[in-house]
Amino acid sequence: MAFSYRYSKMAEAMRPSPIRELFKMTQRPGMISFAGGLPDPAIFPIEEFSGCAEVLRAQGAVALQYGASEGHRPLVDEVRRRMEPLLGRPIASDEVMISSGSQQVTDMLARVLLDPGDVVVVEAPTYPGALHAFRCARARFATVACDEDGMNVELLPEVIERCRRETGRVPKLIYTIINFSNPSGACLSEARRRTLADIGREAGIPVLEDDPYGELRYRGQRIPTLFSITDGGVVFASSFSKILAPGVRVAWAVGDAELIRKMVIAKQGMDMCTSVVAQVLVTEYCRRGFLDAHLGKIRSHYAGKAHAMAAALREHLPSAIRFAEPSGGFFFWLEVGGDSRQLFQRAVNEGVAFLPGPAFFPEPAETVGNTVDGNPYARLCFTFAQGPEIVEGARRLARALERG
Ligand code: PMP
Repeated sequence: MAFSYRYSKMAEAMRPSPIRELFKMTQRPGMISFAGGLPDPAIFPIEEFSGCAEVLRAQGAVALQYGASEGHRPLVDEVRRRMEPLLGRPIASDEVMISSGSQQVTDMLARVLLDPGDVVVVEAPTYPGALHAFRCARARFATVACDEDGMNVELLPEVIERCRRETGRVPKLIYTIINFSNPSGACLSEARRRTLADIGREAGIPVLEDDPYGELRYRGQRIPTLFSITDGGVVFASSFSKILAPGVRVAWAVGDAELIRKMVIAKQGMDMCTSVVAQVLVTEYCRRGFLDAHLGKIRSHYAGKAHAMAAALREHLPSAIRFAEPSGGFFFWLEVGGDSRQLFQRAVNEGVAFLPGPAFFPEPAETVGNTVDGNPYARLCFTFAQGPEIVEGARRLARALERG
């Protein structure tokens, strides 16, 4: 007889990541994938990174040992050095921690801030991995609509008030992807950043500023980080995943020392420490100056790909399909109309994959207040597919649209 497991409420609340599930489908031979948010493997710095492995001869005793939960100190210092200009002030070492991907930052923060039933404010659309982490903490969501300037923060006071009225609780956290959002590609404007900072401070709600794409700007001026225009209450998170390689699973968080300490304690129960081998290699990669050189290279490489996809979509898709060419990051966000899940099935039959919109919105049952229907949208990643595939993928998508 099969064993009968009695699952936790947390396990019951979990859903398989739509991205990771669809990922399997995109592995079929001949499939052109705009689905996963993957960097271009053709531009991984394999030579430079393998060269850095020499450092293991000198530092093997440290690299192969358990490390501090806060992170490998030379990497913490490297992150401080890189972050200070962006965060607008000197950063102390106890304000930084290294994590196993920035996904873990969201998870740690959910563990230390959220009780079951607490509300997290998210922009709609938002990153499904963050929804997943908050769901595991059995949180509910309140959504704020977005436009081309990111979260419509002018609506935030009303959303907070509605939460207070309907749940008796003030939201515990605001989650936002300020630059080149996954999935919308939008950047939060500077004026909105200032408004968000004021509202967060006044309402006593901390903000998670998730910024894995900030360094991947292909056009226009950098906008000051939320962290740099506040004096506390913001956790800034970023990652080596998009700027170096996601396989290293090394990321970081910067925030108030007291909160970082709590997150470090949470991490001790998760994985004790991020792989020290990975941290030593990443430190050496930065120390040799490779990261800055690589950033220049990937910015122009990805700018070309974004442009190629915009041209291909303009040429092949019906003009009713609306999208903006992103000025950074990894994604196009298309208003395809109709049901993007059905479109997905037809697209896969044509040999091209993307992510249907509903994955990027919380469901009505877990949301306080309004939800947005994600069905008419689709996310296309432009970084992973190779040049000719971008054009062919757009053609196949156009055929799938015609069959609708
Ligand atoms: N936040 C956002 C907005 C992302 O798009 C991603 C990766 N897709 C992550 C966090 C997680 O990245 P990682 O754990 O690889 O650092």
